[in-house]
Formats: sequence, C-alpha cells, structure tokens
Amino acid sequence: MSVNQFCNTISEQLNTGILILDIEFNIVEWNRFLEIHAHKETSEVIGKNVFTVFPELPKRWFERKLSSVIQLNTQSFCSWEQRHHLFELSHTRPITTDSHFMAQNCTFLPIESDSKVSHISILIEDVTDVCHYQSKLNKALEELSKANRIDGLTQVFNRKHWEECLDKEFSRARRYDHGLALIMFDLDHFKRLNDTYGHQCGDAVLIETAQKIKSLLRLCDQFGRYGGEEFAAILPETDLVGATDVAERIRKEIEKSVIKYQDKTIQISSSVGVATISKNNKRYEDLISNADVALYEAKASGRNKVCVANNIEYTLE
Ligand code: GH3
Ligand code: MG
Ligand code: MG
Repeated sequence: MSVNQFCNTISEQLNTGILILDIEFNIVEWNRFLEIHAHKETSEVIGKNVFTVFPELPKRWFERKLSSVIQLNTQSFCSWEQRHHLFELSHTRPITTDSHFMAQNCTFLPIESDSKVSHISILIEDVTDVCHYQSKLNKALEELSKANRIDGLTQVFNRKHWEECLDKEFSRARRYDHGLALIMFDLDHFKRLNDTYGHQCGDAVLIETAQKIKSLLRLCDQFGRYGGEEFAAILPETDLVGATDVAERIRKEIEKSVIKYQDKTIQISSSVGVATISKNNKRYEDLISNADVALYEAKASGRNKVCVANNIEYTLE
C-alpha cells in the first residue's frame, strides 16, 4: 500500500470532516464523514464552489478567515463556542440537543506547494456531545447560583444573599461616608392567619406581600426575606427621613391591599422598623440590631406602624 492509499483509507474512516478547497474556494477533496453528514456524494460536490454547496456559510466572515490563512500561511481555528456551526451538517446523536445541526470545531490549515499556499484543508470535528453537556452544565450552574441567592417561596433574595449585599453596602457607605438605611418588616399576627386560613393561604400571602413590597422599592434597593414572615430592605444613599417615608408608604399599601386566596379575601398589616447608618455602627449587624429594636417597638406599641431606631414613633401628618 502506498502512503497515498494509507492516507485515503484513514481519511475515509476518520470521524472528522475533511474538506479541501483551492484558493478560489472550490472543493477538491471531500471525505466520507462529509458524505454522510452533508448527505452529498463526493462526485456531486467536487469542483463546486464551497458557497454553492453550503449557501448557509457566513460569506464575508469565511472569506476573511480563509484569506488570513492563505496570506499569513498559518492555521486558524473556530470553536463551537464562537459559532455553534459553520456547515449545516446533521448529527447522529441519540440525544435531544438544542440545535438541529452538528456543533463543530473547525480548524483551517494552509497547504503549501511551490512555497506558496495552494489549498486550505478544513477539519470539521463533531462536538455536539460537548456542546450538549456544556449547555446542560451551564443551565444547572445557573439554577444552582439562583437557588443560592433566591428564596424558593417568595422569589426575593434569601437571607444569606441579602446579608452579603448589606455587608457590601455597609462597607461602601462607611468608606465614602454615604447614607444607608435599613427597613425591617414583620407581618402582624401571621400565626393567627395560618391557623385561620391554613398554611397554603399563608404562603400565598407571603408571596404576594413580598412582590408588593419589592414593587414599591427602587431598583437599587435590595430586598430579601429575612425569616419566616419577616422581610428587609437595604436603601443605599438614603437618610432617616427618606427611609421612613418609604417605610410608611409601604406599610399603608400593605394595610390597604386585599389578597384573594380561593374564595377568601384577606387583609394584613405589618410592623416596620427603620434604622440608618451612624458613626457608632461598626458592623452591618449593628444596623440590623437597631432596626430590630425599632421593629420590636412598633410591635409593642400596637402593631401596624413604623418606628425608627431611636425609638421615636413616626407619624405622617
Ligand atoms: P406578631 O404580630 O407578633 O409578629 O405575630 P406573628 O403571629 O406574626 O408572629 P410569630 O413569630 O408568633 O409567628 C410567625 C408565624 O409565621 C409562625 C409561622 O408558622 C409563620 N411562618 C413562618 N414561615 C412561614 C411560611 O413559609 N409559610 C407560612 N404559611 N407561614 C410561615
Ligand atoms: Mg416574626
Ligand atoms: Mg409577625
């Protein structure tokens, strides 16, 4: 067997597409892999221009790519992550993939004769499996990262992530001497609501209330579920008057909201504690403690009200 015959045998059995073009981009070589996946016999394509056989090719991009391979006499590569596929080839994977076409890694190799590039060899590798599993992995990682940040019931930040946000905002506010406010909400008599209407109704109220509060905050405010029926909001660049206004507005909205659950109509109220950063606060936990004391004060003095951290009840005229 001659070297040529060896090469032909390997080329025919290789699980990689081999496409050889002349410098006018006419096809001079086409292996069995391409016959199978492009559904075209070698005799049908030899001598034809690559853009005629593959009209889907991004013409300008492809011409530029090949020109640089020819001019610089250097190889080039295009991965499936840059372009899922160049050639519309079918894949034969017994798995459901997002794409109808084979994901490809393509290598462009210059072939020299008489010390100048006369042809380009394009190696087309089937990476449908890699692409499929990578997409699945990315989706799983995305879900994991979301589950790590988001409360499963109410879809607002969970406590862990919310505290991380507070930690960052607290450090920033201290470093640049900016304002920072914290509002803690605790729904009133929630146990009674659960006992009267059932736990599932309680869940529905938590979901709706969380979304309501979130919708009343600014985009830059960070809102999360602090505990069972407790929520908390971080308000960057906000002073005590501003934060108390926001808290009072939200308290009123919660009070007047009517939540429908099955055939029931439910109304709730909330007690709210407000605190703002001060020079005495060394750690973000100090801010939480202050808001907590204010919240306790709101509960102790009758519920459905806003109290601020210095224990002065806030009332709007
Ligand atoms: P207060 O006005 O003093 O805040 O009274 P409360 O009943 O709201 O407070 P308490 O702390 O006694 O009860 C909180 C209740 O919240 C008890 C708990 O069953 C309920 N709860 C906590 N998490 C969930 C939840 O995810 N779903 C439901 N449905 N209820 C929850
Ligand atoms: Mg509570
Ligand atoms: Mg409560």
